[in-house]
Amino acid sequence: MSFFKKLVDSIAGKTEAVTQKFKEGLSKTRSAFVERVEDLILRRKKIDEEFYEELEEILIGADVGINTVVKLIDELRAEVRKRKIEQAAELQPILSEKLVGLLKSEQNTGIARAESGLTVILVVGVNGVGKTTTIGKLAHRYKQQGLDVLLAAGDTFRAAAIDQLEIWGKRVGVDVIKQQPGSDPAAVMFDAIQAAKTRKADILICDTAGRLQTKSNLMDELNKIYRVIGREIPGAPHEVLLVIDANTGQNALNQAKMFGEKTGVTGLVLTKLDSTAKGGIVIAIRQELDLPVKLVGLGEKMDDLQDFDSEQFVHALFSGLIASSEGQDQSAE
Ligand code: GDP
Ligand code: GDP
Ligand code: MG
Repeated sequence: MSFFKKLVDSIAGKTEAVTQKFKEGLSKTRSAFVERVEDLILRRKKIDEEFYEELEEILIGADVGINTVVKLIDELRAEVRKRKIEQAAELQPILSEKLVGLLKSEQNTGIARAESGLTVILVVGVNGVGKTTTIGKLAHRYKQQGLDVLLAAGDTFRAAAIDQLEIWGKRVGVDVIKQQPGSDPAAVMFDAIQAAKTRKADILICDTAGRLQTKSNLMDELNKIYRVIGREIPGAPHEVLLVIDANTGQNALNQAKMFGEKTGVTGLVLTKLDSTAKGGIVIAIRQELDLPVKLVGLGEKMDDLQDFDSEQFVHALFSGLIASSEGQDQSAE
């Protein structure tokens, strides 16, 4: 039984809608990466040196990351020798299998919850990556689950940032705790925690101003926020989510390294996968960082947020190819 048959069976049924969501959201990466692989396979047919070279180029172009690409190609070569494969088409399922392997994480990738009482989620990252949008989407998700959600407008740097969070609050039906623009974000967090305790909220999601990981005063500010939250609720924040924009490619890795060291990041949110052809960055992140990708952003709407699932991700990427390599039309386009 082919790897893909098993894969498809294992995630069939109720997860089909999620796969569809990934497929739509990953369409740019699919056309830049998967269609090029497909074209390569059809064009070269045989696995030779040129084949590997072109494959390497395609993978690097999708931002998979040079170290990972080299490792991946080496593994493919070994597998090809072992299984005595000659036809390029036979390599495709092996490539997919390897990619799933690279993306697999031992870490629990769900969003952590407090054992009891209030769960606090702090959201950090540089400007414009999608922090506020992700908070809106996440609030919507928890609201849908029947939980009582509150937002803290910790981006006090720009008045518009507070308004933007309030717009999201109205859209998804949750309240926003705010202060005047320019006030101390740690004070906003303090207020928000008191409010959350008073109304026995389940989830508090804290927005913060965008900051460059290289500005140490702003990183200190984050530390203060972190300390205030931890003092008010032992064990909080339960998650520190670093939001990174998939379009920033390798720079996203630098952001993750710096934030990770300084602010106790517990997981990543990779946004705008829908607007990049370089979805391979997920693989580079998985390989080079010890941080799980917990959520991915696949658009600007409130339900365009998905838990990251390596099998569904790869399945969605390659689903066009499965159809052609197995000689049956399964593609849902
Ligand atoms: P922040 O500065 O980090 O708070 O970023 P915002 O939440 O304000 O988002 C910046 C821009 O990115 C906005 O125009 C969002 O609509 C857009 N954005 C956020 N997430 C996504 C996503 O997953 N896909 C797309 N296409 N756009 C997104
Ligand atoms: P500096 O010259 O390196 O001190 O920084 P700037 O002149 O860029 O900014 C002065 C102050 O504005 C900083 O100390 C911060 O308090 C604030 N600031 C500047 N850029 C940002 C930013 O991206 N995010 C936030 N939250 N504050 C900023
Ligand atoms: Mg924002």
